[in-house]
Amino acid sequence: MYTSFSSRRAALLPLGLLLASAAFAQQAPPAPGPPPTLVKVKDDLYIVQNQANTMGDLIAYGGNATAYVTDAGIILFDSKSDREHDDLIAKLKTLTDKPVKYVVLTHNHGDHSGGAAQLAAMGATVVISAADRANLVKANEKFIPDLAFMGQAELTLGGKRAELRQFRGHTRGDTAILLPAARTIILGDLLTTADTIPMIVNYGDGGSWTDWANSIDEILKMDFDNVIPGHGPMISKARLVELRAKYGNIMTRTRDMIRQKKTEKEIQEALTQEFNWGFGPSAGNITGMMLELR
Ligand SMILES: [Zn+2]
Repeated sequence: MYTSFSSRRAALLPLGLLLASAAFAQQAPPAPGPPPTLVKVKDDLYIVQNQANTMGDLIAYGGNATAYVTDAGIILFDSKSDREHDDLIAKLKTLTDKPVKYVVLTHNHGDHSGGAAQLAAMGATVVISAADRANLVKANEKFIPDLAFMGQAELTLGGKRAELRQFRGHTRGDTAILLPAARTIILGDLLTTADTIPMIVNYGDGGSWTDWANSIDEILKMDFDNVIPGHGPMISKARLVELRAKYGNIMTRTRDMIRQKKTEKEIQEALTQEFNWGFGPSAGNITGMMLELR
């Protein structure tokens, strides 16, 4: 399926993931498994979720997309990859014959925004934070949404409401979306819940671990039960508290090791051993962390 790992495809990948290992960018990407499935959250809320939390599935299909079904059409949060479009539309058709009216992008990375161009061509209005729209412009992406917001915004369709709030963390302008009626928050890559697709920040796109922690602390003040991450299965608010603590501990441990003048390799090995973090895609994040957290 992939004979070569083209630079175009490389450009669509989150920078942090590309930095994961020098070898990765030169290899053919791992083969994907079977296509994503629909995971029901509520009667009107579904996640289009990859079956395997592998880099192969991530590259082929993109991250989680969440569909909020209303009488007036669908609000879609993230758009999966460009090549997953037909399968995505087929799955949404099993939920309603109404069209996708809005696509809210949690951030600019191709595994979340890649399908947006085709959805826009079908008539959907696409929205992203102005900060992450600037990231799309900077990356010279072919599709740039016309509509962007700063700080916060509110979207209502068919009587159902989505509250959009901008945070810095994974990128300079991640969007978290609260669905009050569904008691659910969608976090994009401010959170991943599978160890095989670890949480990282993207320094090239303005991300920051320190801001990530502050952002999650703000988010935890909001009222919800369910948390939908950018990759991996949905979790509870209680589990988000645990993951916030885990990454806080990773930051503290990293700061300590920087002060002890440990090498990047030593830090990586310690974080992998102690937190099951620091290998694979997260290994490439440590160079930036050593600059930010020193
Ligand atoms: Zn991302």
